[in-house]
Order: sequence, then C-alpha cells, then structure tokens
Amino acid sequence: MIRPQPHIAALNAYQLADLGPATSVSLAQNESAFPASPAALRAGAEALSHAALYPDPDWSALRGVLSDVHGVAPEHILCGAGSMDLISALMRCYAGPKDQVLGTDYGYLFAATAASQADARFVSVAEPEFTVSVDALIAALTAQTRLVFLCNPGNPTGTVIPAEEILRLHDALPSGVLLIVDQAYGEFSDAVSAPYPIFERVARGNICVLRTFSKAYALAGARVGWGVFPIEVAQTLRKVLLPNNLTAAAQAMACAAVLDAAHMADLVARTGQERDRFAERLRALGLCVPQSHTNFVLAVFDTDTQARDMDATLRNAGFIARRMGGYGLPFALRITIGTPDVMDAVAQVIERGLT
Ligand SMILES: *Cc1c(COP(=O)(O)O)cnc(C)c1O
Repeated sequence: MIRPQPHIAALNAYQLADLGPATSVSLAQNESAFPASPAALRAGAEALSHAALYPDPDWSALRGVLSDVHGVAPEHILCGAGSMDLISALMRCYAGPKDQVLGTDYGYLFAATAASQADARFVSVAEPEFTVSVDALIAALTAQTRLVFLCNPGNPTGTVIPAEEILRLHDALPSGVLLIVDQAYGEFSDAVSAPYPIFERVARGNICVLRTFSKAYALAGARVGWGVFPIEVAQTLRKVLLPNNLTAAAQAMACAAVLDAAHMADLVARTGQERDRFAERLRALGLCVPQSHTNFVLAVFDTDTQARDMDATLRNAGFIARRMGGYGLPFALRITIGTPDVMDAVAQVIERGLT
C-alpha cells in the first residue's frame, strides 16, 4: 500500500465546526451577521463575466488599494486564499523537522495544524485570564524556536494586548526568529486598528502581520487574506504560494470592499454594539465573558457538563455554537455574534437552560 510521509500520516484532519442540519443558524465560524458591501458583491458578479481569463497573479489592484489605505508600500503586501493560505506558507518556508513554532494556548488552532504539516513542533504557553502573556512567550523561547505565532485580538478569547506589548516581544526575539501577528479581528479593535506601530516594524526583517476579509468585510466565502511582510520574507513566500491563488472575483470583491470603508466601519460598529449587549446579558446570568474585541464572545460556564449541555440545548433550538474542548476549554462555548433578533433568541435559550 502506498504510504504518506510519516508526519502527514500522524496528522489529524483540521476540525471545522459541526454545523448541524441546514436549517440551523450557525454561530460557529465567526462569519459576519451582516452582508458585505453591495459594491463588493457587484464587483464580484462583474468579474465573473471575465471568468475565461486567469486572474492578476500579482493582485496589483488589491495591493494598490491596501497600500493606499494602510500606508504600506505594495512590495510588503502579499495576498492569500484566506489568511490560512499565508499561515500555511509561512510554516512551510520557515519551520521544519526539529524546529519549534511557539504559540499560545488559546491562539488559533490552525497555526498548530500548519506547523504539523510542515513537520515542525508546535509548543504553546499559558494565557492567564484568557489573555496572551508576552512574558510567558519570552520565557519559552529556545534555540529551536523559529516562529512565534500570536493572535491579537485572540481567537477564541476575544481579548487584546496593547501594541506596546507586541513590540516588547519583538524586541526580545533573536533576529532569526520571525514573529507572526494574526490580526484577523484587527478592524474590531481600536487598540489594534488605529495606528500601525507594528506595520512600521516590518523593515527590521522578522515581524509580519496578517489580516483577512473574512470577518470585518463579511467576505469569508471569497477567501481573501493579506499580510504585511519584510521584503525578503515576501519574496520567499511567493516561491511556495500557488500562482493565481486568488480568483478574479475574489480580488474584485476585496478591492471594492476596501474602498467602501464606511460600510466596514458600520458593520464593525453594529457588530460591536450587539456583542457588548449580548455579553452583558450573559454576565447578568452569572457567566464569565471576557471583554471581546472581535465578532464573537467566549461564554465560560462553571463546569464542562454545563457547557456541553448548553451546546445541546442551543442545537435543539436551532443555534450552533462552537465547543472549545480542542482549545483546552471544555467548559466554554464560543458564540459568533449574529443579528439582534438571533442574539435575543440565543440569550433566551441560555437563560432558560440555566434556570
Ligand atoms: C477567521 C480567522 C482567520 C482567517 O481565516 P481566513 O483564512 O482568512 O478566512 C485567521 N486567523 C484567525 C485567528 C481567525 O479567527
């Protein structure tokens, strides 16, 4: 029988959410409750009429608008089929057998999967109070560490650390260790999105920032991520990214979405408002809910059983939350923020389930 590489044979498939029957409302994948910019949807439809042609392999128009809006030279920007594409490329280029990728306990699980695909070892440090600890990361550095991966804001915690903390971590890293800052929810956080002290650091050569169109731009189905990289890192990643990795429709949608900044700002504001209202309702029921800076909340129950039962109760009522056992949080559920009507219904189900 044909055998895969041993490190691939040892892998478990990456676990996406179990979304239940098609009639259920998914609050399990942090998709936007509100639709994308109408201009973006129109641009995508228009681009489909040229589907006979290959897309722009250099994402020129998209890089151009991102460069203008964020004040970063286009040579520093790469686009991926979702930011997962860029995370995977980073692991393949910079980590291999015997290398260590350092992360945090509650940081995006896909980073661990991508490290394993590259046959590197993923090691994670504790997050006291559901928050990334820069001191814990610094203490865990070893001679084998090649990459440090952190999410800010965090998924599944929703919490943030200030940019100065990330700069302090960067200052503590040897020049041969690359820091990856995943800002998939950056647009939802004033602390992360306002000025870009981290973007200014990329010239130093060992820090990069990842963003996505899947959350604040409501384009998860289009699969567009992007990042800001040191020039040498960008050149290296291009060697492994698939040519033509973004469809023409995806590029057109992302471009139009960036240009419709008012739509994104409104989506972020409405989501944040609903999130904080929902979190307050859960806290009033006695649950612990860390302050979220994303489009979801982490609901922390007293016991594993309570979280499991509540997941089942929500499923029966047609709402799919995400269980967090894979993150070592079997006593918690991650709940994406839906429309106000949906969140009212979810809060009522939880309230009844607890009493
Ligand atoms: C959603 C998410 C991503 C983005 O994934 P895409 O591949 O861009 O859809 C990346 N990192 C984190 C932490 C996320 O939650």
